[in-house]
Amino acid sequence: MYMTFTFKCKDLGYDCSFEYEAKERKDLMPRIKIHYKYAHNVFEMQPDLEKKIDSAIKEKA
Ligand SMILES: [Zn+2]
Repeated sequence: MYMTFTFKCKDLGYDCSFEYEAKERKDLMPRIKIHYKYAHNVFEMQPDLEKKIDSAIKEKA
């Protein structure tokens, strides 16, 4: 049994179908940052956005 961590862009209010799942929480943020760069023109992520993204990450069994 293991946990996975998931992030859905639409949980932050974007009209966007991006979802990402990883076994380790630390693997999510680099991938999410790349998505934000290309899909949402966020070239430099601000700490408050990073915090919002982090709190939208869900754990599931
Ligand atoms: Zn998105």
